[in-house]
Amino acid sequence: MNSADDFIRRDLAAIWHPCTQMHDHETVPLLPIARGQGAWLIDMDGRRYLDAISSWWTNLFGHAEPRIAAAIAAQAQTLEQVIFAGFTHAPAIELAERLLALAPPGLARVFYADNGSSAVEVALKMSFHYWRNQGHGERRRFIALSGGYHGETLGALAVSATGLYREAYAPLLFERLLAPSPDAYDCLPGEAAESVALRRLDALRALLERHAHEVCALIIEPLVQCAGGMRMYHARYLGGLRALCDQFDVHLIADEIAVGFGRTGTLFACEQAPPLHASAAPGITPDFMCLSKGLTGGFMPLAAVLTTQCVYDAFYAEYNAGKAFLHSHSYAGNPLACRAALATLDIFRDEPVLERNRALAAYLAARLAPLADHPHVAEVRQTGLIAAVEVVADKATRTPFPAHERRGLRARLDALARGVVLRPLGEVIYTMPPYCTTLEEIDLIVDAIASGVSVACR
Ligand SMILES: *Cc1c(COP(=O)(O)O)cnc(C)c1O
Repeated sequence: MNSADDFIRRDLAAIWHPCTQMHDHETVPLLPIARGQGAWLIDMDGRRYLDAISSWWTNLFGHAEPRIAAAIAAQAQTLEQVIFAGFTHAPAIELAERLLALAPPGLARVFYADNGSSAVEVALKMSFHYWRNQGHGERRRFIALSGGYHGETLGALAVSATGLYREAYAPLLFERLLAPSPDAYDCLPGEAAESVALRRLDALRALLERHAHEVCALIIEPLVQCAGGMRMYHARYLGGLRALCDQFDVHLIADEIAVGFGRTGTLFACEQAPPLHASAAPGITPDFMCLSKGLTGGFMPLAAVLTTQCVYDAFYAEYNAGKAFLHSHSYAGNPLACRAALATLDIFRDEPVLERNRALAAYLAARLAPLADHPHVAEVRQTGLIAAVEVVADKATRTPFPAHERRGLRARLDALARGVVLRPLGEVIYTMPPYCTTLEEIDLIVDAIASGVSVACR
């Protein structure tokens, strides 16, 4: 028996994998990965797979990136972990300073957690607690967007609207208010993305008129609703959203966990909101910005919630435990993870990452464009280095394929046979490649997507 088969047997006897119907592994191969190199994963038999989804959207500069690896190794020999209540350390301080310098103006405080869902929990709790500290305990609801996704823990799931992940747990989740997504896929025949966004702002305004007095915050994924199917929307929605949150005095939580760190073309997606008037600067500042995934270049679990001095001040008091934010995670601010994040920010500082990504994105767009003519492709869409092809049963009416036919899975298996890792979301076949991907590797990804589309639609 070769080593790969042996590992698969041992895995399936001992492990329960995330986001997986384990029964699928009776037919879907489980890949035992021995190592990674650049955009490639190499299995125990030496077969190579191009990681076209950046290992669940975390990896930015390639696997085993030597600078990030070296930073972690050096830190591990100095200080691996210390309790972060009552103690501090250089990596956490430096990282907080650098994140605040890079973030939209007005964000002044960093709270560390250790995964994306926890960052969302932190933002939700902080917003609620802020209002409570201000004497507004009646504010206890949150507004989320249809199609949004914010993680799997109960609070994060409560403000998510992706049916698949939340259905079974719905009885456990607090009720949220849903505003219709500005998703450009929902446009009327001939309508522009911008017009959908403006219509959806009107709907949001109506919701706020009725409910703002009982609402803590509105939570959104800026520009791209990723887990909900890589649905994309016009950046003008962001500016309108900020204005409405100001007008109705409701917090805005920007979940940049997936779109942050250069994925959409700017360091943060919030930067792309066009100026509201001629003399204004572009971009919006949310009241909370959640970061994780790419924060450490895909090396270590870490999350950060950035917020304003105003929010921070509402918790600051002489001894009064009821006012303080008594939330913690054992590994909050872990020094190894902070070092990985600092090494990642060094790469952004030292190399023209965003320019390179723009060139890569333009090439990807040009290569994918012909797929729009496929008789089962409803849309080819792209924002920065997120590109998606949505296949449907009927192109004219955009009627989806029945979910149980698992068309996306067919594309995934076909791509895998070609040595490319895709993981379609339902019938949305997408790529979110690492930033180190070469043009030749983009060709391989596009060929795999094209083949996957035709296999899925057969
Ligand atoms: C992945 C994701 C999360 C959850 O992060 P985890 O680290 O998986 O808990 C939250 N929000 C968005 C937008 C995400 O893409």
